Amino acid sequence: MRRLGCVFAHPDDETFATGGTIAKLAAGGGRIDLFCATDGDAGKSSGIPVLSRAQLGTLRRGELTAAVDILGVSSLSTPGHGDGVLREVDPDRLIGEIVYFLRRYRPEVVVTFGPEGAPTQHRDHRAISRAATAAFFLAPLATEYADQLREVEPHTPRRLYYCAWDAPHPGAELQALSTPVTCRVDVSSYLERKRAAFLAHATQRQHQRRFDDVAVTPDERYSLAAGIPQPRAVTEDLFEGL
Ligand SMILES: [Zn+2]
Repeated sequence: MRRLGCVFAHPDDETFATGGTIAKLAAGGGRIDLFCATDGDAGKSSGIPVLSRAQLGTLRRGELTAAVDILGVSSLSTPGHGDGVLREVDPDRLIGEIVYFLRRYRPEVVVTFGPEGAPTQHRDHRAISRAATAAFFLAPLATEYADQLREVEPHTPRRLYYCAWDAPHPGAELQALSTPVTCRVDVSSYLERKRAAFLAHATQRQHQRRFDDVAVTPDERYSLAAGIPQPRAVTEDLFEGL
């Protein structure tokens, strides 16, 4: 069985960046586990009345649960760190949580944001990229986070991919550049499911235009960051050659 581990910062990151890939893999019988570091409690709510950050966090966690059900995610890990301040979490703690996630769910392929923080370059995206990258290299080592070994075994994921994208068109809202695209997953048959997952994030409707602009595309693109080399310079499958 193909096993994918997705490590992101906010509810909706999974849908924006990897929604089609998750839906496609799930449809093919694969297993997808998602680690989402925050509940998105510092975001806006697109006009939905919210009285407090805590209430927004609860609302967004519920939206995330609905979205991942639509996409076919098998498990959701939500440590509930503060939105916007992920880089203030003790790195040892955040890395350790992701190491535990990798050891528990044992994905072959891990996907996270690149060090630039995706097209938005959000500071939480950059923080989760650093922590997930460290965790990828530490999860195999019995000397690291050894206290976890009472519950879980060390695990060696085979590849780490960063989310990537093609150069933005001249009128695009966001002009950030990504690491080189080395994998293009055709998700054209899964765009309806991806749109439905985004609609489940009702508080994020204010980002609909950006979603349509950057996320509703016939393929989702990735950049090999570490692990077993790809058999070709640009593949169509994160698992090709494993
Ligand atoms: Zn985000």
